[in-house]
Amino acid sequence: MLATMAPDEAGADRHLDHQSVRREAMERLRPRGGLILRTRRDGLRIRHSDDGELPSAGAHSPRCHAALLGAAGRGAHPAGAGPALRSRGPATGGRRGPSPRLRRVTSPPPSQPAAHVDRALCVLAHPDDVDFGSAGTVAAWTAAGTEVTYCVVTDGDAGGFDDTPREEMGPLRQAEQRAAAAAVGVTDVHFLGYPDGRLEPTLDLRRDISRVIRQVRPQRVLTSSPERFWERIGASHPDHLIVGESTLRAVYPDARNPFAFPELLADEGLDAWTVQEVWLGASPRADHAVDVTDLADRKFAALRAHVTQVGHRDDLEEFVGGWMRQTARGHGLPEGRMAEAFHVVYTA
Ligand SMILES: [Zn+2]
Repeated sequence: MLATMAPDEAGADRHLDHQSVRREAMERLRPRGGLILRTRRDGLRIRHSDDGELPSAGAHSPRCHAALLGAAGRGAHPAGAGPALRSRGPATGGRRGPSPRLRRVTSPPPSQPAAHVDRALCVLAHPDDVDFGSAGTVAAWTAAGTEVTYCVVTDGDAGGFDDTPREEMGPLRQAEQRAAAAAVGVTDVHFLGYPDGRLEPTLDLRRDISRVIRQVRPQRVLTSSPERFWERIGASHPDHLIVGESTLRAVYPDARNPFAFPELLADEGLDAWTVQEVWLGASPRADHAVDVTDLADRKFAALRAHVTQVGHRDDLEEFVGGWMRQTARGHGLPEGRMAEAFHVVYTA
């Protein structure tokens, strides 16, 4: 038919078709009580008129909708340190009824990390990463009753400084990481078995991290920053950047979206889960320091468990303590204190 029309007529016809389809869509939506909002690109979105709840959005994200609705702006939390995240409630998402995560988009995010969480998950690239950057903080969490799980993406088989056979390095480093974890009160350690030094931001990696998030159901995730930390290049190993990026992609949107990696729900029964906050280590925009001076001995014990990595360093405590003192100074803590610092991102 179009072939018989002049080009402008064909264009007008398509335009009319587009408009009538849109009108029909609007009419279909009105009886359900929805408000119809218009984006700058003239797209259509619907918001229910009662409580800001959004209809199921398939693969689209609640945060996209929140931005669209102008409801996702930051605001100060009235409770100072923010609410404790203690409940082991039902998964936010899943097949039954409207998702609570969609209602939450109208609340401002907290301005400080939760004072306490029940469960935290640390996702790092190599055995020893969590200990260099965060073991003091982990020790503080476990001492306060938080259940902490480690997910180590590689076995660190490209690490080491001596002639340990390569095929032995992975198992050795797994054992070292388990011992280091125990030194700061962590017994649940997952290894994903990816090759050290060759990580890429693949869908497989996102799915595997999403799986652990759904298994552990943590309110808080700690991972490495996907942004390079220019002041200390060693902190930004490419694997660290990839794990940080992949973990953030798993936190949002994959783990919370029941339609992302549907096999996790269909085959493994893993309901969607929304992580409340993510702590990024070695970040160029760290905004939260944890004073770990009183836990430094436990951190050093964890680090010393990585014999294949630090066995040759007599100056380990001095070396790492120097970083931690510098971090404390940079965040305004008194001289001589030691700290670990993070960029905390609110992800609910
Ligand atoms: Zn590393």
